[in-house]
Amino acid sequence: MKEDILHHLEIIRDRIKYACEKAGRNSNEVKLLLATKTVSAERIKIALENGQNLIAENKVQELKEKYEELKHTPHTNHFIGHLQTNKIKDILRYDVSCIQSLDRLDLAEKLHQKLFTENKTIEVLIQVNTSNEESKFGVDPARAIELTKKVAELSTLKIKGLMTIGLFSAETEKVRTCFKILKNLQQEIIRENISNIEMNELSMGMSGDLETAIEEGATIVRVGTAVFGARIYPDSYYWDERKAENKQ
Ligand SMILES: *Cc1c(COP(=O)(O)O)cnc(C)c1O
Repeated sequence: MKEDILHHLEIIRDRIKYACEKAGRNSNEVKLLLATKTVSAERIKIALENGQNLIAENKVQELKEKYEELKHTPHTNHFIGHLQTNKIKDILRYDVSCIQSLDRLDLAEKLHQKLFTENKTIEVLIQVNTSNEESKFGVDPARAIELTKKVAELSTLKIKGLMTIGLFSAETEKVRTCFKILKNLQQEIIRENISNIEMNELSMGMSGDLETAIEEGATIVRVGTAVFGARIYPDSYYWDERKAENKQ
C-alpha cells in the first residue's frame, strides 16, 4: 500500500514537472492537491508524511470522520465539493483554509454571516461551470464576474482565484476549451480591477487532464485516482446535484 502511493506520487510529480517544462513554466508555480474523497486517513497520512501537504475533501462528513486522525500530521485542507448551506457551521470546525467550490451568492452570504460572528476569515475560489454540463456545479461563466464582484464585498471571504472541473472527454481539445474559458475569465476579472480580491490561483486539471490544464495556466491540479487508485463510488455521487442532495 505504502509503496504504491509513493510510486504513484513520484509519477504524478514527474508528470507535473514534465508538463511545466513543456509549457515553459517553472514547476514551483503548480501545486499538487490530493483529492482524498473515499480515501482512508491512514492512506492520506502516507502521502502527507512523504512530501505532500495539500489535501481536499468533497463532503463535510468525510472531513469530520478523518479530522482526528489527521490533525497531528501537518497539512493544509481545502474543500472542493458542493457545499450546502446547512453544513457551513460544520465545515468551519475542521480547519479548512480554502473553499474552492464557492459558486453562488446565497452560500457566500451565509458563510460571511457565520465567519463574521466568529471573527474569522476564509479563502475562497469561485467555481465556474466551464463544461456546460448540468450535472456539474459552478457558476455559469457569463455570471462569474458578477458573482466575483458581489463576493468581493464580503469582508470575511478572501477570493484567491477560480476553480473548474473540465469536461470528461477523451478529446483533449474539448477539455482544453474549458481551461481556456477559466483562464480568460481570470484575465477579464483582473482587468475589472475589483478591490479586495486576488486572482492568482487557477485550480484546474485532475488525474486525466493535468497536462492540458498546466499548459493552460493551472496553479493547482487536483489529483485523486492517479495517486490513490480507483474509487468505488462513481463520480456522479459527488457531482450530480440531485444525488448529492439526497445523500448528504
Ligand atoms: C475527485 C475530484 C478530483 C480528482 O479527480 P481524479 O480524477 O480522481 O484525479 C478533482 N476535483 C474534484 C472537484 C473532485 O471531486
